[in-house]
Amino acid sequence: MSDLRDLYQEVILDHNKSPRNFRELPGADRHAHGDNPLCGDVVTVYVDFDGDTLHEVAFQGSGCAISQASASMMTEVVTGKTLEEARALARRFRALLTEDGADGSNLGKLAVFAGVKDYPMRVKCATLPWHTLAAALDPKEAPETVTTEA
Ligand code: ZN
Repeated sequence: MSDLRDLYQEVILDHNKSPRNFRELPGADRHAHGDNPLCGDVVTVYVDFDGDTLHEVAFQGSGCAISQASASMMTEVVTGKTLEEARALARRFRALLTEDGADGSNLGKLAVFAGVKDYPMRVKCATLPWHTLAAALDPKEAPETVTTEA
């Protein structure tokens, strides 16, 4: 377990220090804002489609290391996925952090976030970017600004 914990910290610190795809996407097909007032995390997720594929995914935001690292890793993982695959990943990631018995075996490197489950205050930080992505992918089902405190 300590190996996983070390890996988890290493990955989060790395992505927080050098966030991937941290930029605005002017003219993106979709975007949504996310807000986690309990921690002060904010994130805007941009998605540009090529047909049914998430051709380019980027984010901007500020807040704690976990929220920013989660957003950074999310943009890496969902880029190139289809809409359906991205929705499924978002569901599985949220399940990993919020449901007993969920395991990260089908989540690849995102599984390092399983360690966040031990820190309930941090779960909203890690899931915020994914809630925001879900809102961007399905704008009819979500407000343009999602909040963890709704
Ligand atoms: Zn946070």
